[in-house]
Amino acid sequence: MTVKPIASPGAPAVALLAATLALLSGCAYPYRPPALSPVTQPAPAGVSLPRAGAPVELRAPVTILVSIDGFRPDYLDRGVTPHLSRLAAGGVTGPMRPSFPSKTFPNHWTIVTGKVPDHHGITANNIDDPALPGDAFTMANDDPAWWNAAEPIWVTAEKAGIRTATMFWPGSNVGWGGTRAKEWPHVVTGATRPSDWQQFNEDLTSAQRVAAVIDWLRRPAATRPRFVTLYFDAVDTAGHQFGPYDPRTTQAVAGVDAQIGALVTGLAGLEQPANLVILADHGMAATSSARTIALDTIVPPADARVVEAGPYATLEPAPGREAAVAAALLRPHPHMTCWRKAHIPTRFRYGTNPRIPPFLCLADDRGTGGAWVIAKTAPTRPSIGGNHGYDNDAADMRALFIANGPAFVAGRRIGTFDNVAVAPLLRDLLGLPAGTGLDGDDGAFRDVLKR
Ligand code: AMP
Ligand code: ZN
Ligand code: ZN
Repeated sequence: MTVKPIASPGAPAVALLAATLALLSGCAYPYRPPALSPVTQPAPAGVSLPRAGAPVELRAPVTILVSIDGFRPDYLDRGVTPHLSRLAAGGVTGPMRPSFPSKTFPNHWTIVTGKVPDHHGITANNIDDPALPGDAFTMANDDPAWWNAAEPIWVTAEKAGIRTATMFWPGSNVGWGGTRAKEWPHVVTGATRPSDWQQFNEDLTSAQRVAAVIDWLRRPAATRPRFVTLYFDAVDTAGHQFGPYDPRTTQAVAGVDAQIGALVTGLAGLEQPANLVILADHGMAATSSARTIALDTIVPPADARVVEAGPYATLEPAPGREAAVAAALLRPHPHMTCWRKAHIPTRFRYGTNPRIPPFLCLADDRGTGGAWVIAKTAPTRPSIGGNHGYDNDAADMRALFIANGPAFVAGRRIGTFDNVAVAPLLRDLLGLPAGTGLDGDDGAFRDVLKR
């Protein structure tokens, strides 16, 4: 969204401000911040114009990366998203393909690093690493050793002198690049963090999260962030509990949309121009206990440890049981396909990282009524709901993407693109050089960024 400056400074002041703003904004390629010019229209009611010669602040655009966890692009068609739909219509939108596995932590880390999970190391929501014995990765693990393989955009920005602030994002509470002492109090040394960050707590309401972002932007220029993340979990939670087609999920969609409205209003109140990049980590498929594959009927539990189960499962064979596990898994199964990690189809870009267990099984994302789920044992009670983690090219796994702001051409729909393109886009918006060794580039956005 764009908020026009309302002050009418004299020409020299404008030139000075434009130069300052250009410096503040870096040399963004291909996007360059618009030249500032005196605005001739009258000030809106209630807004006082500064006296001639008084300092006028024309704010540099802030880049705000918003994740609405589990938001499918077709949630925009439910008639409950006036704010998101307006931003989409006035900006750039298109379906985004997550990376495999279509889970929360792997994809949030891809979005901010530009690398696929196989390369950035957050290969799942729950991980074992032979190189980190005695530790297991869960979504609460903030030991940098799990995260250090790929640099997130806020670290790149901070190193370039761009102040950042994170209102939640997986990994944003990690002292990135640092080393955590083995002994209590486990001090982390040598780390770079966002200048402002928050420890994840799902009890903080969506409205409180938006208010925190607006408060950061209310600060004087010297301590105001130029890159911000904002994360909402409510839509994913409802999608899991009730399934993607339930009215209660639609209600959660409406609730987050209202908070996007509050964000836009707050920015307008501060006259703060913003490049908003609003997206999801993955979609959501309808699941049912009636569509379960029970692993213990295929592999005896003593033969393998099930590391993860759900839309996909990973298994670690017990010593000496590798051949038996291979024989059991690698034959055809209804509604499920299994591979050795080295034979996972290349389009998944998954299977070289030592953190990935030796066998991967993937449930069908389409069946009569919805997707299938792999469980350790058959469910004891009936349930319906939603889940994600399927083939990243599955239609139901597509993720929301909307970009809106002074950097973007208005009213553009783009075709399906991979989420490894987002980090290169953010680098463009922040004026950072194109990264090296990334798994994607900004090609999907070249025609929709203003030059
Ligand atoms: P998933 O199991 O893939 O659906 O993960 C979604 C859940 O991840 C959300 O419901 C949150 O509770 C949790 N989550 C999201 N961000 C964080 C975070 N930064 N730290 C810990 N947990 C998180
Ligand atoms: Zn998620
Ligand atoms: Zn989820």
